[in-house]
Amino acid sequence: HDEEAVAKAAAINADSGAPTIIDKIVSKEIPSTIVYEDDKVLAFKDINPQAPVHVLVIPKCRDGLTQLGKAEQRHGEILGQLLYAARMVAEKEGILDGFRVVINNGPSACQSVYHLHLHVLGGRQMKWPPG
Ligand code: 5GP
Repeated sequence: HDEEAVAKAAAINADSGAPTIIDKIVSKEIPSTIVYEDDKVLAFKDINPQAPVHVLVIPKCRDGLTQLGKAEQRHGEILGQLLYAARMVAEKEGILDGFRVVINNGPSACQSVYHLHLHVLGGRQMKWPPG
């Protein structure tokens, strides 16, 4: 049954606070193609790109930010740094004139990795509304 399968997937993917693949990408235990890096933020190419440019922008330190819905006022600075890094990625990738930034929050938005990440997508005509 479709609805059951979706509910099951959602339960499996709910925010448990457990370490994620992104910890291993930050520690470079898992290799990634880095597009931008500073002391707080890392941006690397998505392994399963949904557009010619598809880069994930993450805080190196998760600090409770498993998903945007967990953000608190104290996270304001890192949230701003992530958006600025998204703009730097767009410039580096040559898509500054047209790009999209997406954050999937929670099971119903198909979040699969519980370490906050921004998707920077571009290099093709994007459609609206997204699916
Ligand atoms: P979400 O679905 O949580 O918004 O996005 C998670 C993203 O992480 C997906 O687009 C997926 O392709 C990407 N991803 C998952 N595992 C890896 C990995 O090991 N390396 C890289 N570069 N991307 C990954």
